[in-house]
Amino acid sequence: MKIDTVCVQGCKDKLNSTGAISVPIYQSATFAHPGVNQSTGYDYSRLQNPTREAVENIVASLENGTQALAFSTGMAAISALMELFKIGDHIIASDDLYGGSIRLYHHISKKNGLKIDFANMSDISALKNKITKDTRAIFIETPTNPMMNVADIAAIKDMIKDKGILLIVDNTFLTPYFQQPLSLGADIVMHSGTKFLGGHNDTLAGFLVTSNKELAESLRFIHKTTGACLSPFDSFLMIRGIKTLAIRMEKAQENAIELANWLLKQKKVTAVHYIGLKSHPDFELSKKQARGFGSMITFEVASEQIAHQILEKVKLILFAESLGGVETLITYPMLQTHADVPQNEREARGINERLLRISVGIENIDDIISDIKQAME
Ligand SMILES: *Cc1c(COP(=O)(O)O)cnc(C)c1O
Repeated sequence: MKIDTVCVQGCKDKLNSTGAISVPIYQSATFAHPGVNQSTGYDYSRLQNPTREAVENIVASLENGTQALAFSTGMAAISALMELFKIGDHIIASDDLYGGSIRLYHHISKKNGLKIDFANMSDISALKNKITKDTRAIFIETPTNPMMNVADIAAIKDMIKDKGILLIVDNTFLTPYFQQPLSLGADIVMHSGTKFLGGHNDTLAGFLVTSNKELAESLRFIHKTTGACLSPFDSFLMIRGIKTLAIRMEKAQENAIELANWLLKQKKVTAVHYIGLKSHPDFELSKKQARGFGSMITFEVASEQIAHQILEKVKLILFAESLGGVETLITYPMLQTHADVPQNEREARGINERLLRISVGIENIDDIISDIKQAME
């Protein structure tokens, strides 16, 4: 089956005896046992729930993994992931990263005794120099949020192979529809399902996917023990969102390519970071490791005043945090997603008062462009 078919038809309720087309919401906290030492396969919904199992199975198959775990949010998934490590373990993360992940590393992981370092993942030799005998994992986002740097997943894997270091990829921006990190050598894929997988700005969710049996068992143990699992209703909404993943990703990307090219021509725009532009330094690498470029654009305008004006004057486009939904959203990374990143770090990465990020939706592109045009005038 091709991936767009999997999105639509890949999710089945294995208990179905009614012919229902959609997976039911098994809104039950607990399950009755047929007898002593007997189980239907379901005991208590923190351990297993049929609706959650259905969404886990489809996310695993989309990512070419054998197992997926569904969490209540993306951050819950990363927090659970960190439970794989112990005091003194060293983790290297992308130096440009989702703000919430940076906050977790700085304020929670360090307190728990992990040693956290950040590196530019586009520079493999610099990354190699940061590896120590205690390094246990490399955590990358590609493309990164918000600067859209791309890391070569296969090359990083090649560099760390036989070193006992896990390669973890946050695949939120491109989704398995465009990029499948496990097939490129990653050990674990992480998702904020809140974004493109759900796709409608109505549900929070997170996923971890792997095809390594031992890792899957450890993660499953952490999942059921720490308990941030996805509810049956939210699992249903994820399944429903994934059905249209392929057409949403295609349409949003088509819009993003047009918008990025339009932005390039505007006098008030001083830089456009979109991996689908030939001028992007990682355009060729993106073409090599992914089937598409996605729909996230970051751009810089000439002054702080223009940035504020755009945020205040947009009508159709919504000034809101988050991304990956059908609605076009514009974000001010400095004050929203990256507000907690120390100022010097933030500015060193190019996240300044002139930087805006757009998650391009699936509206008509003419409406999106005329809205941003009127807001910029
Ligand atoms: C949103 C996001 C997260 C966090 O996910 P939540 O569902 O908001 O907890 C992690 N990584 C990336 C790239 C994100 O965009």
